[in-house]
Amino acid sequence: MPNLPELRELERIIESGRGHLEASVVCEVKAYKTIFPVYQLSIGNPDPALPVIGFFGGVHGLERIGTQVLLHFMRGLLARLEWDKSLHHLLKDVRLVFMPLINPGGMSQSTRSNPNGVDLMRNAPIEAEGKVPFLLGGHRISPRLPWYRGLAGTAMEVESQALIRVVQEQLLTHPFSIAVDCHSGFGLRDRVWFPHAHSVHPIAHMADIMALEELFHQTHPNTRYLFEPQSMHYQTHGDVWDYLYLQAQQDRSKIFLPLTLEMGSWLWVKKNPSQLFSLHGLFNPIVEHRLHRVLRRHMVWLDFLMRATASHDNWMQQGPRRCRMQERGVQRWYRR
Ligand SMILES: [Zn+2]
Repeated sequence: MPNLPELRELERIIESGRGHLEASVVCEVKAYKTIFPVYQLSIGNPDPALPVIGFFGGVHGLERIGTQVLLHFMRGLLARLEWDKSLHHLLKDVRLVFMPLINPGGMSQSTRSNPNGVDLMRNAPIEAEGKVPFLLGGHRISPRLPWYRGLAGTAMEVESQALIRVVQEQLLTHPFSIAVDCHSGFGLRDRVWFPHAHSVHPIAHMADIMALEELFHQTHPNTRYLFEPQSMHYQTHGDVWDYLYLQAQQDRSKIFLPLTLEMGSWLWVKKNPSQLFSLHGLFNPIVEHRLHRVLRRHMVWLDFLMRATASHDNWMQQGPRRCRMQERGVQRWYRR
């Protein structure tokens, strides 16, 4: 398989997880002469009354570290299933869904976009309410330029359709779900972004995201993630998580919290400036010990999210406390 060790590793995981993991191919993508499968995997209790967490990665082909973090996490889970009774117990209360390599065509060619030149994070049918930054906010000028949305009025790319289908069928059918989409972003800090990307208005579930943030920092005081609505940085057209979040809003009895992990890639560039001269190096830690540190750091977060999803009844705020938390979020992020 040309230049795609991540897909080989994913297939090894599927093979060794037989009997535990359910795996299927949700679509196929052609890149030059090769056809790549896009996999979806799941494990845990499928009862539709129970909560579910979806782990997503590899949306942007250049950001291999997002896929690698998820593969590392899945490997760890499979190893623990051999001996860890508490994990088996946990999986009776929660369902885990994985789509760790959504854009294998782009990753095989080391491009951010898919093989058609479309940025899958600009491809959903949703328009920004305000002004978006030139190109970066999504455009329809040419697939040769980054952040291309695709042609107006055409169907979404097969990878976007597959992602949306998996979320609609596997997450939004449950009363409570969290999605975490792993990217590598600019900046020094690890960030957790939440909607909106298309609008500067606060979401109705900001209180729940704040409660989750508080819980995480209480549980892991030495691990800091910066939580922010994406629109604080810039607005974009076509954000697939905004699109799905708005869809989920149509059923008010359900809660869907989509999060994007933006791993601070300047952390590794700062320590090894020669990476500035390589596209792969900009978005991925190259030195082995640094890669291991990045993988380790984010295991804590993924493991936490799995447990927080299973026990969401114990930390979600209700009534006046929830209202106060929502108001605190508005003060923190929207009134500056
Ligand atoms: Zn990305």
